[in-house]
Amino acid sequence: EPCRWPQSWPTWCTEGCPGGASGPLACRTFSRVSSCPPEVMLTQERYPVRRLPFSVVSEEDLAAFECIVPGRVVTDPEVLEVSNVDWLRTARGCSKVLLRPRTSEEVSRILRYCHERNLAVNPQGGNTGLVGGSVPVFDEIILSTALMNQVTSFNSVSGILTCQAGCVLEGLSRYVQERDFVMPGPCHIGGNVATNAGGLRFLRYGSLRGTVLGLEVVLADGTVLDCLTSLRKDNTGYDLKQLFIGSEGTLGVITAVSILCPPKPKAVNVAFLGAVGPAGEDNGGTEPGWLCVQV
Ligand SMILES: Cc1cc2nc3c(=O)[nH]c(=O)nc-3n(C[C@H](O)[C@H](O)[C@H](O)COP(=O)(O)OP(=O)(O)OC[C@H]3O[C@@H](n4cnc5c(N)ncnc54)[C@H](O)[C@@H]3O)c2cc1C
Repeated sequence: EPCRWPQSWPTWCTEGCPGGASGPLACRTFSRVSSCPPEVMLTQERYPVRRLPFSVVSEEDLAAFECIVPGRVVTDPEVLEVSNVDWLRTARGCSKVLLRPRTSEEVSRILRYCHERNLAVNPQGGNTGLVGGSVPVFDEIILSTALMNQVTSFNSVSGILTCQAGCVLEGLSRYVQERDFVMPGPCHIGGNVATNAGGLRFLRYGSLRGTVLGLEVVLADGTVLDCLTSLRKDNTGYDLKQLFIGSEGTLGVITAVSILCPPKPKAVNVAFLGAVGPAGEDNGGTEPGWLCVQV
C-alpha cells in the first residue's frame, strides 16, 4: 500500500512541534498517527451524493488545456492525490487533472472552455479549508490559484494592497509589515476571501466584508467581472463583491483582491489568562486551560 500522506503541509502547521511533523492542529491530532496514515474514504462513498451529468475529461480536453496553460496541466497521480484530499483528511475526490493558471485571462479561457464542454471545476487555494470545499467530490477539474501569486500594487499611504488571488498570506504579511502595515486576516488570499475567514485578527480589525475593497472574479462562463476598485467609499451601484465573500467558490473564481491593510501596531504585548475551559483533550477537562493572547 503506497503512502498517501500529503508531502507538503502549510509551514505554519508544521512549525513548533517536535520533529516538525505537527503544528497547531497537528500537535493534537497528527502526532498520534503513523507517518503513513490510513487512506481517506472517498467523499462519494461517505455521503449519499450523486454525480450530476457533467462530461468526463477526455484526451482532447487535456490537449486544449495544454494550449491554454502550457506545461501546467498536472495529471501525475501522486500530485493529484495530495490535491484530492483536504487538509483535515475527511474529504477525498478523484480528480484526474489539476490546472495551474497564472493570469485571470487563463482562468477565463479555462472556465469558458469547461462551460462549453460541460466540465465541472473546483477552485482550490492553499487547501487549508476545514469544510471540504477545497477538494472535488467526484472528478471535478481542480483549478489551483497557486501560481497566481503576484502583488499588483501597494499604496504605502492608504495601506491598500492589490494582488492576485494565489498570494500566500504569510508572504503578504511579510511584504506589508516591511512597509509598516499588517494584513487584516490570517493561506491564499483568494481562499481567505472565498471562505470569509477570520482568525484572531477578526476581533481587532473586523470582517473581510469591511477590509476587502474590490475583487476581480471570473464567472463560470469565463466572463471577467472587474470590481477591483480600491476606493474606500464606493457608493456606485450594487456591491457585487459581497456576493463572492464567503461563497466557497460556488459563484466564480476570485482572481485578484484589493484589500485595506491597517498600520502595523507600534508594540505587541502578550498576556496569559487562566480560564476554565470545556473538557478538553489537552487536560482531560480537570484543570483550567491556558489562553495566550496578543494585545
Ligand atoms: C488551523 C486552522 C485554523 C483556522 N482558523 C480559522 C479561523 O479562525 N477563522 C476562520 O474563519 N477560518 C479558519 N480556518 C479555515 C479557513 O477558512 C481556511 O484555512 C482558509 O481561509 C482557506 O484558504 P485556502 O487558500 O487554503 O483555500 P482552500 O482551502 O483551498 O479553499 C477553501 C474554499 O474556497 C474556495 N476557493 C479557494 N480559492 C478560491 C478562489 N480564488 N476563488 C474562489 N473560490 C476559492 C475553494 O473552492 C473552497 O471551497 C482555519 C483553518 C485552519 C487549517
